[in-house]
Amino acid sequence: MHLINADLHCHSNVSDGTLAPEALAERAKRNGVELWALTDHDEVGGQDRARFAAATVGLSYLTGAEISVSFADKTVHIVGLGFDADNVALQQGLIDTRGGRERRARDMADGLALAGIPDAFAGALRYVGNPDLISRTHFARYLVEIGVCGSAHEVFRHYLTDGKPGFVEHRWAKLSDAVSWVTQAGGIAVIAHPGRYGFTPNEEYALFSEFKAHGGLGVEVVTGSHTVAEYGKYADMAQEFDLLASRGSDFHDPIESRTDLGALPDLPGPLNPVWQALEHRILHP
Ligand code: AMP
Ligand code: MN
Ligand code: MN
Ligand code: MN
Repeated sequence: MHLINADLHCHSNVSDGTLAPEALAERAKRNGVELWALTDHDEVGGQDRARFAAATVGLSYLTGAEISVSFADKTVHIVGLGFDADNVALQQGLIDTRGGRERRARDMADGLALAGIPDAFAGALRYVGNPDLISRTHFARYLVEIGVCGSAHEVFRHYLTDGKPGFVEHRWAKLSDAVSWVTQAGGIAVIAHPGRYGFTPNEEYALFSEFKAHGGLGVEVVTGSHTVAEYGKYADMAQEFDLLASRGSDFHDPIESRTDLGALPDLPGPLNPVWQALEHRILHP
């Protein structure tokens, strides 16, 4: 197996990252990435810029997006890779998925106000690069700015997760829809960072089984969100479920993110890399 430095998961300021697509392309190239995908949340608005920037710096490129899905009362993320970003059904699906974000953000701000933190909607908005895509990350940055917490991670723990004052239940896309939008647009759907969801073994088995039944083909094994032990666990699950393996940093910001673009171990040996199945979709510079 020829292993290349593929980084197929990161975010620009078109969603909740802090760098522009062009700056990400330059950083990826500088860090030795050979194949890159920008995977903004629920949004393909940065794809043209990313593709062009990749070509400019001499980087091979796959289109990407990370779709928010509700499954078993939790939020699960599905990464789509190598799709046609102009596909109308995919674009409409993403519009619908992100459509409730402003309402949700206003409700989050109401919850934070009750907890003694006023004006968080306006505060978070100052960090938003794309008004369609206000996320919890933008609230976290604002709460760090005003000194409520010392780090974004701490804000999530105390304010933005289930049961905390700024958390609002939200209905995202259906798993079957997310997988089919990606697949019918010519791409491959991948379960993002499965180690992050806190599922029981039964729930996790259900996620993998249903994902496969809907036509999903891949799973992230090596990601900035996994521990070394989880690399092994999800390598085994990739084999058990006969899924292609993906690799991505989930980079958002030079200071916030613990894994930089391209700075990941290789996929474990026996796995089939998702990018080999997407060879025909790779845009070479
Ligand atoms: P949202 O789509 O608005 O629910 O925001 C989800 C985003 O929040 C994720 O994509 C991460 O970027 C970020 N996030 C989630 N949990 C944490 C955490 N514990 N620490 C820092 N960022 C987090
Ligand atoms: Mn994010
Ligand atoms: Mn994610
Ligand atoms: Mn991500």
